[in-house]
Amino acid sequence: MAYVCAKCGKKVKLVDNFTRCSYCGARILIKERPNLAKEVSTD
Ligand SMILES: [Zn+2]
Repeated sequence: MAYVCAKCGKKVKLVDNFTRCSYCGARILIKERPNLAKEVSTD
């Protein structure tokens, strides 16, 4: 499943438990969905 970074807006692919943007390091990713955007916060 593809996610979009909430900060830089780049597409982030999740690998196992690595749930953070590999570009800017943000930990807030948004599920890439047509209508329903869900925030996923990992700490
Ligand atoms: Zn980012």
